[in-house]
Amino acid sequence: MLRVLKTADGAICLDITGKKNGRGAYLCKREECLKKARRNKGLERSFKMSIPEEVYRTLEEEFAALEKEFEKLESE
Ligand SMILES: [Zn+2]
Repeated sequence: MLRVLKTADGAICLDITGKKNGRGAYLCKREECLKKARRNKGLERSFKMSIPEEVYRTLEEEFAALEKEFEKLESE
């Protein structure tokens, strides 16, 4: 699983290490899971805040980059 983190100052980011402080929500390591969370507002519910469009866009970019990494790791 991949941890999405809400930091103390309300920023949303991916927590690759899973060890940062803050409220976390978990997603599968697939871009599709993020898209689903966006559609059903799962992250909004987890973090009890509305998540701006550009935050999703950033997360999607990070996810897409990570997904390639995961594929590489799995095929090695
Ligand atoms: Zn999932």
